[in-house]
Amino acid sequence: MAHEFEVPGSDLDIGGKSKEFVVRAAWVRGILEGTDATTDGKDGSLNVRLSKSDTDVVAHGDLAVGLTMECARCTKPVALTVHNQVTALYVPAVKLPKPGGAGGKDAPDEYEFTSDEADTLPYDGDTVVLDDLVRDELLLEIPMIPLCSEDCPGIAHSPQGPTDPPGERPVDPRFAVLKDIVLDQKSTTTPKKDSAPNKPAARPSKPSK
Ligand SMILES: [Zn+2]
Repeated sequence: MAHEFEVPGSDLDIGGKSKEFVVRAAWVRGILEGTDATTDGKDGSLNVRLSKSDTDVVAHGDLAVGLTMECARCTKPVALTVHNQVTALYVPAVKLPKPGGAGGKDAPDEYEFTSDEADTLPYDGDTVVLDDLVRDELLLEIPMIPLCSEDCPGIAHSPQGPTDPPGERPVDPRFAVLKDIVLDQKSTTTPKKDSAPNKPAARPSKPSK
């Protein structure tokens, strides 16, 4: 699969290099498929500066992408602008400790980084691919409960509730017969006042064996 944002490592040196990418609306749409958010239809931008030290590449950039979501209360479209600084340290995959393995034994002693300094991402040592960085940044920015405004009143409804009172619904003619039967049963059971309340004897009994 072709990558959207890639920089050949051979272009980079310790002095750093700036790259400008268009974050295509179609790409954003694909990335956000299955989430509550999608592109606002306009292309965004990623301006990133990359510098290479030995084999590690530091990427530091500015991501600007417009998204749209539905308000969680009134379902109106909510515009959402992601405008974030992104930073990542790209380390050749062979240098990263293997998951579950002893790890780090082959790495030189001076090779050390703390994971909270920057996102550490693997690269093949040749081409730096920024797709995951951009994707993760966008996914992280999707709010759980998007609101068009903090005091959105929600979908407009009448004070007494949106539905008609049940009694005023027209009765399906097919059920009219059933209604009569229910009324009949009531009229026959009410006179039996001597039966115990927890043992309604008047209830139609099951067919005996
Ligand atoms: Zn709203």
